[in-house]
Amino acid sequence: MKKNEAKAPVIKEAPNPPYKKRNVWLEGDRDEIMDFAKGYMAFLKEGKTERLVAERLEEAARQREFADLKSCKALEPGQPFYYNHRGKSFFMGVVKAPLDQGFRILGAHIDAPRLDLKPQPLYEAEGLALFKTHYYGGIKKYQWVTMPLSLMGVIYRKDGSLLSVNIGEDEGDPVFTITDLLPHLAQEQMQKTAGKAIEGEKLNVLAGSIPAPGEEGKDPSVKKAILDILYEKFGLLEEDFLRGELELVPNFPPREVGFDRSLIGAYGQDDRICAYAAKEAFLDLDARESGNVLAVFFDKEEIGSNGDTGAQSRILEHLMELLIRKLGDKEASPLEIFFASKALSADVSAVEDPSYDGVFDPYNRGQISYGPILSKYSGSRGKYDANDASAEFLSHITGKLDRKGVLYQFGELGKVDLGGGGTIGMFLSQLGIETVDLGTGLLSMHSPYEVASKADLYMTYRAYKAFLED
Ligand code: MN
Ligand code: MN
Repeated sequence: MKKNEAKAPVIKEAPNPPYKKRNVWLEGDRDEIMDFAKGYMAFLKEGKTERLVAERLEEAARQREFADLKSCKALEPGQPFYYNHRGKSFFMGVVKAPLDQGFRILGAHIDAPRLDLKPQPLYEAEGLALFKTHYYGGIKKYQWVTMPLSLMGVIYRKDGSLLSVNIGEDEGDPVFTITDLLPHLAQEQMQKTAGKAIEGEKLNVLAGSIPAPGEEGKDPSVKKAILDILYEKFGLLEEDFLRGELELVPNFPPREVGFDRSLIGAYGQDDRICAYAAKEAFLDLDARESGNVLAVFFDKEEIGSNGDTGAQSRILEHLMELLIRKLGDKEASPLEIFFASKALSADVSAVEDPSYDGVFDPYNRGQISYGPILSKYSGSRGKYDANDASAEFLSHITGKLDRKGVLYQFGELGKVDLGGGGTIGMFLSQLGIETVDLGTGLLSMHSPYEVASKADLYMTYRAYKAFLED
């Protein structure tokens, strides 16, 4: 034996290797990741409002001959079902085990921040016709000016007939936009704080400028000209706006971002990215899998989950009552089912943005392309308004993800005293369902152009699928 050979260090595996999260691009199948994003981008393009997303989900369910839980007389175990709740929230599931064994639930939301028309929106000023808006959800108002907007939603005419509105999305459609002050005259505006620079009552949308000639004794009127167009084209009266739900949403389509096409830039990714991943995970579930699974897609998350289509309504309880009745499982009660259920609150989180450092705890932050983010707790400033998942449940979830080779990361939404946010997680847990948040990290969340990583989208889908499987 040579002298220096004897001295060669023996490399031992460290007894306690430091925990390291892993970059999905370096380990995942790049083709699969890229391919999965295509369907998602098409889904975003077709689903710019909660109603349109609910329609798409119902189409997918009907194509696969799921039973309509509302109208079916009885439900057989193993028969997938769906429930469209007032066109704005959506549920699909399958029951294969006794109901009192509970469900594995994926809970996403399909509403997104936007600008809603006020009930009496149309007015005229300075030769322009404009719409008044009231924003929906937490937005930075200055981000919503000087860009093309589409007008979408529904409106009921006085005779009760429905008009579905979709103006701006088709090539050749006109679009709408909100103006901003030219820099030359914006000295005072630029002194204001960002929250005040554009006020809510200034989010007024351009709707036209050609005046109708004035009738006898009256001035020419742009408002009248617009009302004439609305009547001729759509049979709409001005008062029909009182019966409308019209939303202004960013007009641009989803696009790939970056030379390597690794990112997706699009409106509405909070929370349609998790909704899409949840839908795909549910639809791809092996028919031989056992147990009860449910994918839920709520409305109204962005305004606190209130209202009859939000997660604070008692719709899940109602769904359980229907299932009990239609499956003839008289032994079960909704509360008993909830207490035996487990849920992932499938909502987006934030990742560190290198241009805005200092808002996250560097040791507990989400990072782009490291997989979906598990948030033990949401809420803010002392975990108020939070769901705080138990160690037992985290052990169950991470065990499942690890066994199936899913990459994920833990992340807290910002520094302790800085902010935070809520999801439907706390409302699921209030029903007695063991719940934790797991969703894709976004850049520019709640902006008109949110950015996500294709790798994170793909791993979110893998995580949801692993959770739904036995
Ligand atoms: Mn969300
Ligand atoms: Mn949100």
